[in-house]
Amino acid sequence: MEGTKPVETGEDPLAPYRERIMYGLASAVVVCLLPFAVNAFVQGNPALGAGIVCAVLVLGIDAFAIYLKKPPPIPLILLLVPIVAGMAISLKTQGFFGALWCYPAVLLFSFALSRRMANAGSILLLLIISALVYHYIGLAFTIRFFVTLTLTIILVNIVLSIIVDLHRRLLDQALVDPLTGVFNRRHMERSLSDAIERLRRNSAPTSLLLIDVDRFKSINDQFGHAKGDSVLKGIVSLIEKRSRKLDLLFRIGGEEFMLLLPDTQEAAAALVAEELRASTAESRLLEDLQVTLSIGVAELRRGESPDSWMKHADDALYAAKKAGRNRVVCAGQPAPQPDPTLSDAAPHA
Ligand code: GH3
Ligand code: MG
Ligand code: MG
Repeated sequence: MEGTKPVETGEDPLAPYRERIMYGLASAVVVCLLPFAVNAFVQGNPALGAGIVCAVLVLGIDAFAIYLKKPPPIPLILLLVPIVAGMAISLKTQGFFGALWCYPAVLLFSFALSRRMANAGSILLLLIISALVYHYIGLAFTIRFFVTLTLTIILVNIVLSIIVDLHRRLLDQALVDPLTGVFNRRHMERSLSDAIERLRRNSAPTSLLLIDVDRFKSINDQFGHAKGDSVLKGIVSLIEKRSRKLDLLFRIGGEEFMLLLPDTQEAAAALVAEELRASTAESRLLEDLQVTLSIGVAELRRGESPDSWMKHADDALYAAKKAGRNRVVCAGQPAPQPDPTLSDAAPHA
């Protein structure tokens, strides 16, 4: 089940900062490169000047589009063309110094492009410019250039992989409950909204189970908090054994869980709930005491909000508590009769 896996985002961790990166790069490139362009024109080298101006324009146009909240119109990988052309001219007319521009170009690719594109661009640059250095300058320079640029590419990749790892750990900490390893309430809100969107677009049903451990306070009081914690972990592992890969489990309160069942109607969800209830009641989570669950089941209805969906499940759970606990109640069915022998049918937390 997804709830206990590390959070897989597949997202580019630099994406939220891309805007800032683009502005920074565009302004730095304008300030640093334009004097070189002017110098190239003054020195009678218009081809080199034009190459530099092209690179500045590509970055400037894309940064301006991002400022206007529009997608950047020019793929940044196209920067390779003016960069390679400019370097070829510079290597030919000014010697080895032209190759030095490869180092900031590799950094620019690494922070402004996706990882795969950046590596493709950097390796292409490494190979083309190495060949040009060999052609115009000689073998000794080529070897030094190739080795130092390769090291730069490797170091940038190490830094980027550390950033990706930190990003994943941060998401894990923000979205996963440390005691049980399942998702927490923060992640739940996003998943409920996704389910609403799936129903609206594809008419795909989703049901949710609100699962509350019965009289958990007395388990803590009788056996201690640590034993209570291990009961919670045991319940999670029972639920996981009986869930499908696409189901999502959340710990939404101290001893309260929510199991989200995509592509499941209320009747099928009630069967899952009943199986969970029965297997927990039969389990030996505590030697001297039967641990039981009360479960409220609700299928998402068309047009309803996450709050109202949760409210339906919560009302069903309350009815299960009121009817004597250790039972499953569905929101779409009449509530069972309260057990008259129970005087403490208090609402669950
Ligand atoms: P009911 O059947 O009505 O749900 O009764 P209950 O005792 O389960 O519910 P109540 O809300 O009165 O008590 C919940 C208890 O869960 C109180 C709290 O100390 C305990 N609890 C909350 N979080 C944790 C936790 O992380 N670990 C442990 N061991 N106990 C917890
Ligand atoms: Mg409880
Ligand atoms: Mg509770």
